[in-house]
Amino acid sequence: MSRGADLELASVTKSYSGTVAVDRISIRIPAGTYCCLLGPSGCGKSSTLRMIAGHEEISDGDIVIGNRVVNGEPPVKRGTAMMFQSYALFPHLSVRDNVAFSLKMRGASKADRHKRADEMLELVAMTPYADRLPAQLSGGQQQRVALARSLVTDPVILLLDEPLSALDPFLRIRMRAELKRFQRELGITFIHVTHGQEEAMALADLAVVMNHGKIEQAGTPQEIFDRPATEFVAKFMGGHNVIDLGGKRVTVRADKVALGADETAMPTVHTRGGTVTSVEYQGYTVVVTLAGDDQQELLAIVPERTFFASPVEPGARAAIGWDSRDIHELAASA
Ligand code: ADP
Repeated sequence: MSRGADLELASVTKSYSGTVAVDRISIRIPAGTYCCLLGPSGCGKSSTLRMIAGHEEISDGDIVIGNRVVNGEPPVKRGTAMMFQSYALFPHLSVRDNVAFSLKMRGASKADRHKRADEMLELVAMTPYADRLPAQLSGGQQQRVALARSLVTDPVILLLDEPLSALDPFLRIRMRAELKRFQRELGITFIHVTHGQEEAMALADLAVVMNHGKIEQAGTPQEIFDRPATEFVAKFMGGHNVIDLGGKRVTVRADKVALGADETAMPTVHTRGGTVTSVEYQGYTVVVTLAGDDQQELLAIVPERTFFASPVEPGARAAIGWDSRDIHELAASA
């Protein structure tokens, strides 16, 4: 089920006194999409989000929600809302009053505000905590209150700026699942800024990888991981070998390569040898990094059992090998 409106960015640009933070980006995000804006620090994710929210002026281009250009409109008129991190809750207000706050700003009566706030608290399973102060809640509970607070105005697009970064790793994974569930239930668009590729892959219907203010690639997580458009995307997503092969730049997924002690013994068509620099045990898999003889870093992600059948150690010689069918050629313009 989806509710709400398509969002379109048409050649949207943001410059801050000479610095181009967002450089003519264009993308269409259909209603009801979980979209992650992904990329390293400084690539323009937050500026993009703030322009969609109406918290930052657009330097050039158009933002279209539904069939309306919203460039100059305040957030209230756009039907967008921003979820801030949990520490942005008002410490002196109860959970209910925190959630009801923006309705008070819009002049709703106290009875209406509380009714609506209570509905939102129910949605995020926080009803028993309505009268508490934020300091009396755990980090995960505070995050849910922050979510309820942002949803209370019934937005069609919810914007989330690194919403999970303040949580510990265990809670982050739990809240991540909850965000996805809320988005599905509400059927509205979520646009979630993150620098974590794992977070984006877990959540996104549409992942948008940015670099230096431009979109490097937009697609499903699987498209982006399996068929990175550029060397930047392959390296940023991780888990890929980027290799020169007959003058072409190609990638081979690290979980598609075989690992052996010596390239002459590899059963595959292509091989590269090197010296093992690290071996990381990760449970299901073991991640082995090699300094290749041609100075390129090589990576193999090997199932646990395969690795321990013939383990290698740092400092030893080893080789990786792969077959032609697992080669993915990068775009020439990369
Ligand atoms: P991200 O969210 O990907 O880390 P930002 O959108 O915050 O990236 O920033 C993109 C670029 O714009 C960076 O070079 C940053 O230093 C610059 N920038 C962001 N906000 C401002 C501002 N208010 N004034 C000047 N430069 C800014």
